[in-house]
Amino acid sequence: MSSPRPLNAISVDVEDWLQAVVDSRLPLSERFCANTHKVLDAFARRNVKGTFFVLGLAAEKAPGLVREIQAAGHEVQSHGYGHEIVNKITPDRFKADVERSRKLLEDLTGQAITAYRAPAFSITRANLWALDVLVEAGVTCDSSVFPIRLPRYGIDGAPWHPHRLRAPNGGLLTEVPVATYRFAGRRVPLGGGGYFRLFPYFVIRNCIRQLNAAGHSGTIYMHPYEYNPDELSEIEYPISWRTRLHQGLGRRGFPGKVDRLMREFRFGRMCDVIAEAGELPIFEHAPGPADGIARPENAGTEFVASDLRVRR
Ligand SMILES: [Zn+2]
Repeated sequence: MSSPRPLNAISVDVEDWLQAVVDSRLPLSERFCANTHKVLDAFARRNVKGTFFVLGLAAEKAPGLVREIQAAGHEVQSHGYGHEIVNKITPDRFKADVERSRKLLEDLTGQAITAYRAPAFSITRANLWALDVLVEAGVTCDSSVFPIRLPRYGIDGAPWHPHRLRAPNGGLLTEVPVATYRFAGRRVPLGGGGYFRLFPYFVIRNCIRQLNAAGHSGTIYMHPYEYNPDELSEIEYPISWRTRLHQGLGRRGFPGKVDRLMREFRFGRMCDVIAEAGELPIFEHAPGPADGIARPENAGTEFVASDLRVRR
């Protein structure tokens, strides 16, 4: 019998802020290790297990940290190797990145790597071939499609709840999108990032409540650096004031919001969420230009039926 309160997924993208956000060619600093320990402590206090999408570069630099994450009972999965944005690289390069990260993490954990989250959620209509690459790499769960049109990423009208997604090659993945909040005919990406940091707690809570009330699981995501409000002042690398402002805002209140969510809702690993969800409807996306980049402004951030074929 399924539980009356859906299990929600809590996920962490293990990476270093400067390398992941500012320039992927930069070396990783040591800061992500200490920051990840803060996340691990916060989860342990609430006895919550989560899914950690670990960047290959981070695993190479701190293999012990990956083993610690695993030993604490969390799910270790892949955030790719070099944090290269998928819509800026070729299929061959993407495949090499996915494989390199998978091999590294499988050697470290002794377990199959079956879930993936793309850097910056960069799987869009313009690069659905990436889903083929993932299927071929043995990935069965993906969390890379943001179900909303955003300036740099997202697939407008994609389902806002966990579902099965058919890749162009016919393979199937379980897609677990990050939580979005339906409000005034639009969807707001509240499951993590700047919106999560800036909106007050009750709005974030309402987002998860809305998903759960519809019988769906919600997914939140975070980064280790969001547990370190002082990080930006420690970095000497030249960073624009805009980036500092946007990236620094709301960091101080971030861990408290996650903690309140963990107390108020059921949170767990993505693999457990999928196991609890049972059978899910199958969708597939029509290829096309990336929604956020090439399509004109339109009012509809709601479901676009013509763009999406549903098969049950
Ligand atoms: Zn990332």
